[in-house]
Amino acid sequence: MSSTWHILGAGSLGSLWACRLARAGKAVRLILRDPQRLAAYQAVGGLSLIEQAHSSFFAIPAEADEAHAPIHRLLVACKAYDAAPALARLAPRLAAGAELILLQNGLGSQDEVADQVPHARCIFASSTEGAFRPADWQVQFAGHGFNWLGDPLNPAPAEWFSDLEEAGIPAQWTVDILSRLWRKLALNCAINPLTVLHDCQNGGLLEHLSEVDALCAELAQLLHCCGQPQAAEGLNEEVQRVILATAANYSSMYQDVRHGRRTELHYLLGYACRAAHRHGLALVELEHLRQRLVDNLQARGLPSD
Ligand code: NAP
Repeated sequence: MSSTWHILGAGSLGSLWACRLARAGKAVRLILRDPQRLAAYQAVGGLSLIEQAHSSFFAIPAEADEAHAPIHRLLVACKAYDAAPALARLAPRLAAGAELILLQNGLGSQDEVADQVPHARCIFASSTEGAFRPADWQVQFAGHGFNWLGDPLNPAPAEWFSDLEEAGIPAQWTVDILSRLWRKLALNCAINPLTVLHDCQNGGLLEHLSEVDALCAELAQLLHCCGQPQAAEGLNEEVQRVILATAANYSSMYQDVRHGRRTELHYLLGYACRAAHRHGLALVELEHLRQRLVDNLQARGLPSD
């Protein structure tokens, strides 16, 4: 089986993973959106990784998603709403026993992808690393963090897992990946939408702690109901710690809105509200928050689904 790391999406996280794997001597191939993006990439010839003020260049080979060679290992590094449509196009290229690593934030997109590729193993990831693109084909490593990977259907670690350590990608295999993803989703629901609605940095929520508390209480209820009691433990305290520790930061949702980009709402707060509905739970604060956010996005002319 080929050990090439195919990377779908040369955005912030995809480029960060691609550069570190290439630096460690691993075979890496980028899969770009279409021939136009491929031509733009080829004109530059590679990706630049900027760490502190230092920039390194990696001439990583790339293809558009019309290539035909089989794919054995695929890092899916698109936004949550792009993952399943992108996979639908690539599915015929996946070899028997192919493994996918899904980097998407939130929940829901992983199942959408798995439905497209029932013959592949889907490994879920939860990342606290931070990166952004100062320009096309450049990635700035903005925040050191950690990656948890796991497969809810199979506790055995992937055989390539040691590649990550060799590439300096901090990661741990976990059998509790769903608990990690739920916890991160709950933190996101308690913080990010409010930063958009109150137009503030994370620290601005210190003036709205009663709203935050009410959301945390409902989110904890939801987590229990969804069989994730561990993810509910000490949620309110952690949300407050995160608000204090990141007081000067703008949340990812705030930044998406400020830059006029589509948010991942559907896979975060939207997912939480749909899960509550499925369980017959009336979570009025959470639903009211979702409705206010939808109204806010629509007023800005941004997608609200
Ligand atoms: P991003 O910078 O917007 O990158 C997404 C990339 O996917 C873009 O380069 C886009 O291509 C590409 N793409 C979309 N559809 C495609 C297709 N059909 N074929 C090929 N490429 C396609 O997003 P990101 O910030 O890396 O985020 C990716 C995921 O990681 C999100 O779920 C995010 O929440 C999560 N995450 C991000 C961070 C972070 O710090 N950035 C941290 C933790 C988690 P174009 O360039 O052509 O538009």
